[in-house]
Amino acid sequence: QWIYMNGDYVTKDDAKVSVFDHGFLYGDGIFEGIRIYDGNIFRCKEHLDRLYDSAKSIMLDIPLSYAEMQEALVETVRRNGLRDGYIRLVVSRGPGNLGIDPQRCERAWVIIIVQQLAIYPEEAYRDGLRSISVSQRRNIPDALSPKIKSLNYLNNILVKIQSNLAGVGEAIMLNAQGYVTEGSSDNIFIVKRGVVYTPPTYLGALEGVTRGAIMDLCSRLGYAFKEEPFTLHDVYVADEVFFTGTAAEVIAVREVDGRVIGEGHAGPVTTRLLEEFRKIVTVEGVK
Ligand code: PLP
Repeated sequence: QWIYMNGDYVTKDDAKVSVFDHGFLYGDGIFEGIRIYDGNIFRCKEHLDRLYDSAKSIMLDIPLSYAEMQEALVETVRRNGLRDGYIRLVVSRGPGNLGIDPQRCERAWVIIIVQQLAIYPEEAYRDGLRSISVSQRRNIPDALSPKIKSLNYLNNILVKIQSNLAGVGEAIMLNAQGYVTEGSSDNIFIVKRGVVYTPPTYLGALEGVTRGAIMDLCSRLGYAFKEEPFTLHDVYVADEVFFTGTAAEVIAVREVDGRVIGEGHAGPVTTRLLEEFRKIVTVEGVK
């Protein structure tokens, strides 16, 4: 396994980060999770747009141009010889001193890790996941913008811990007003009477790349689609519920807080969207 570190390719054992790195000390940094399908980097531009926007927003100077970053991704994938897998791209503020001041950090560190990935068994895509709503609240843009994919994932990790304790695959986070926002690391969609809904990201959700791909697919396949606030009640009575994410792709939900969703397995819209999604991933992308 070859890991890209600031322009060098090093082995897993040599890929070491300083204890003074502000990504480690303070979660000061950003990241992306990207998929490779049949040698293509899926929606590379969308991921890099989000990365560079996140960087700009937190005044983090990425020491690579957009084109250089894309090249680094392609080269890291090539060196690892993977046709299908997952890329973790991390940009941290870099090593500094023990104070929080980012001005003390000399330069950002760029790390690219490529790995194989299979988060859910194939039957989970047919059967659907069990899910719960959790007490953690997703922040809205009056605090840190939910559009920044920052290295501060503690809130999401607490959600994951709560879903582990409940023995479910993914959980649903609300915002302080009680609107549904997203999962711990996935966006959420519901289907009701043939209409596909997802919450607007201003309620407190990451602008997911997979979410964007599903919105594109809905319009191509002729599904009525609305970006509209909804509550847990709407989730409980939905015909279908599914999560989307780079790792999870499109995964059905069969139960939320003990309420069976629809027929209790992946419904027709979710199944069709997953099928079509898996078709586009191998043809779209950067080689
Ligand atoms: N929401 C959160 C909080 C995430 O961490 C992720 C995963 O990256 C997503 C949603 C899904 O986004 P994407 O489809 O870009 O992977």
